Amino acid sequence: MTQQRYLYDLADGDASMKALLGGKGAGVAQMMRLGVPVPDGFTVTTAACVDTMSNDGDWPAGLWEETLAALARLEERTGRGLGDPQRPLLVSVRSGAVVSMPGMMDTILNLGIGDATVDALGREAGDPRFAWDSYRRFLQMYGEVVEGVPAHLYEDALTALKRSRGAASDTDLSTDDLRELVGTFKAVSRSHIGADLPTDPTEALHRAIDAVFRSWLNPRAGVYRRANGIPDSLGTAVNVMQMVFGNRGDTSATGVCFTRNPATGAKELYGEFLLNAQGEDVVAGIRTPRPLAEMEQLLPEAYRQLIEVMGTLESYYRDMQDIEFTVEDEQLYLLQTRGGKRTAAAALKVVRDLVEEGVLTREEAIDRIEPGQLDQLLHPALGAHGQTPVTRGLAASPGAAVGEVVFDSLVAERRGKAGDAVVLVRWETTPDDIAGTLVAQGVLTAHGGMTSHAAVVARGMGKPCVAGASEIDIDVEGKTLTIGDLTLTEGDLITLDGSTGEVFAGALELVAPQINDDFATVVGWADEIRRLGVRANADNGPDAAKAREFGAEGIGLCRTEHMFMEADRLPAVRTMILASDDAERAAALAEILPMQQADFEAILEAMSGLPVTIRLLDPPLHEFLPSLVDQALEVQRLELGADTHPTDLRHARALLAQIKKLTEQNPMLGTRGVRLALLYPEIPQMQVRAIARAALAVADRGGDPQVEIMVPLVAYAEELRRMRAIITETLAQELASVGRSLDIPIGTMIELPRAAVVADQIAAYADFFSFGTNDLTQTGIGISRDDAEGAFLSTYIEGDLVPTNPFSSIDVDGIGGLVGIGAERGRSTKPDLKLGVCGEHGGDPASIALFEKLGLTYVSCSPYRVPIARFAAAQAALAAR
Ligand code: ADP
Ligand code: MG
Ligand code: MG
Repeated sequence: MTQQRYLYDLADGDASMKALLGGKGAGVAQMMRLGVPVPDGFTVTTAACVDTMSNDGDWPAGLWEETLAALARLEERTGRGLGDPQRPLLVSVRSGAVVSMPGMMDTILNLGIGDATVDALGREAGDPRFAWDSYRRFLQMYGEVVEGVPAHLYEDALTALKRSRGAASDTDLSTDDLRELVGTFKAVSRSHIGADLPTDPTEALHRAIDAVFRSWLNPRAGVYRRANGIPDSLGTAVNVMQMVFGNRGDTSATGVCFTRNPATGAKELYGEFLLNAQGEDVVAGIRTPRPLAEMEQLLPEAYRQLIEVMGTLESYYRDMQDIEFTVEDEQLYLLQTRGGKRTAAAALKVVRDLVEEGVLTREEAIDRIEPGQLDQLLHPALGAHGQTPVTRGLAASPGAAVGEVVFDSLVAERRGKAGDAVVLVRWETTPDDIAGTLVAQGVLTAHGGMTSHAAVVARGMGKPCVAGASEIDIDVEGKTLTIGDLTLTEGDLITLDGSTGEVFAGALELVAPQINDDFATVVGWADEIRRLGVRANADNGPDAAKAREFGAEGIGLCRTEHMFMEADRLPAVRTMILASDDAERAAALAEILPMQQADFEAILEAMSGLPVTIRLLDPPLHEFLPSLVDQALEVQRLELGADTHPTDLRHARALLAQIKKLTEQNPMLGTRGVRLALLYPEIPQMQVRAIARAALAVADRGGDPQVEIMVPLVAYAEELRRMRAIITETLAQELASVGRSLDIPIGTMIELPRAAVVADQIAAYADFFSFGTNDLTQTGIGISRDDAEGAFLSTYIEGDLVPTNPFSSIDVDGIGGLVGIGAERGRSTKPDLKLGVCGEHGGDPASIALFEKLGLTYVSCSPYRVPIARFAAAQAALAAR
């Protein structure tokens, strides 16, 4: 038989089969192997889902037959039958992607219950109420997931019934109430679908599996996958498992726990449970659950067993686990185990502890860190303040957030994308709120615990979250939130501290975070492993100091144009640009020189002992002048003005003429970089003098300046040869005049395709190269970033025409190829040529992996990305071993 196998009994799977069985299926199968109690069942593979999707939704041949055969085996093993009126088998039909996507897809519980089986179930349990409770749960989930009945129709019916019975909670409803509710739910489904639900549970099973396949394509799952870089092509597995019941009275329970604290990483009890409930109740955040510690009193034997299982699972996986469990009549069952989502702080603490416990090697610890996640540690916290919180909730995800209150995920999404700082406030979040959460500064919920959906999702994203702030009253329609006698309206400012659970009215001040001991220790291990150097891009003293604090080993790119733009210099810069003769220009440059020198001194001082690469002026001169339109309007205003002074008008016209002269059709490809420097050599001469004087001044104060000069936008070796002559001559003059010497390497950016191709020629005049991958991407692909990102490039990315934005993560084949050519040809001329990368890609883990492979010397990125780059470089080095 060549036909593919689409189905595995749980007993035939294990942890290594994640790609086929999904994380949940592989996890349950592995638990079964480890002797951990789990319900029996089988898994329909991800391949079955993929083949169904590519078959326009039709199941591949043989899948249904295989399912029926697996069902028959399960019935045989359990001694029960699906739909059997004496000994009914009930199953859950659970989604299970390869990479866990908590709550993003659908699961149906209690399938197999119906008019024919509800009495038998009640009889067996000695508890008819439980049977009817399970029945109404099934009708709601099946209606929602399979038939697309809106959830609120069922919830409204439940609320109405509770109100008419005066019941505070679901558990206050009687058997007869629940029987009535089942009738109501059937009517709700019927009137929405226009037909009865299937009475044959086998047909219902078919439809349920199919619905779980389809849930892979639901919009919130799509948003989650894009946010987490999970390919759409993977598909989900479907797990069919015998039901165990947490809703069989007060000897039963359901809960979620972590083997360590996922917010801090501390090795301590962390979890929640609800008595007499089914799994969904805990994660949905509808009833607020109890802390796990209380289970010791209420269900001592199951509690003891759970603690033991946590140990077993942690030592098998050698990682913190996130566990779902159910206790049926004091008997413990595990329903899921997976690597726990955790904050970056927790991730560092967990791997550090595991190394110290002898469980992991340092290399393994480094591999476990997701470098991008460390970004959250570099996010702000609340500064010292004397404010009293207006309310408190659970500290569900650390970090502080300030923003305008919004009550609707869509509004949050729209405003967040427009760059507004908003805080999403909800009764509880549902997976549909994911898009709003993604762009909000933080999330505040009134209901739900530490393992509620909002909390789990926020922690994974590093979003501050305060959950279960129960004093909050939200009026979604009226767009207000009330806490006691305080009322906030949509748009009012609010501050959350996800590390303490405190909520403040108004905007509190945020402070930059400090690197803690776990961070320093683990990043220290990364430093031992990595080969690539990590430098920072910084244009001023404070940024340089910050970069050094984050572990930068120098500055890979110091841009000088920002210094030109500052308000106090712009007049002199404009005079320099508009100068009508050499003397006037020289005077203006003489005015700018000491300012540049002071900037360079600050940077060289902050980076004393480490290399600082200063790039000569790059942008075209018109960038320092007012816009053409503004100046034309100014001239017009003066022309029309009654009391305009003729000199003013003449100046305004001269400026307009100069702007016109300098304005280019395509400035990105125009007179900039080395072209500008060769046209106006006085500018680089001034900059070189300022650099030399700054270095000498810093040395005089006992510092160790290690400056390097970099020439931008070189395409021809001859450009660099001439530029180099200007630089060395100027340096020689400067140094001779004071009788000193300095060793200043001179190098070039490689940021044009031609430069990469003729890098062997260019290398003859360069002491180092630095790949300017931003411009190389623009010129190499022929895409103007400013024009493309809000336009066709977004369409390309969403339509999967390109795998990622090539400006965020390097285009490996194309631009990566050019970098490879440049590196190889450069080194063919000078084997020891230092090769750096500056630009955003220098802080992107995927790009860093490529730069490691190409054997570059260092990457340079923004100061806040430096720690991320250190980890990514270590991982790249490990991958290359
Ligand atoms: P999700 O991926 O959204 O977490 P799950 O498939 O894990 O979905 O199911 C949600 C909840 O349903 C789980 O928390 C679990 O407690 C409960 N559940 C799933 N299968 C069973 C089962 N066979 N018996 C009892 N409870 C179950
Ligand atoms: Mg689950
Ligand atoms: Mg550039």
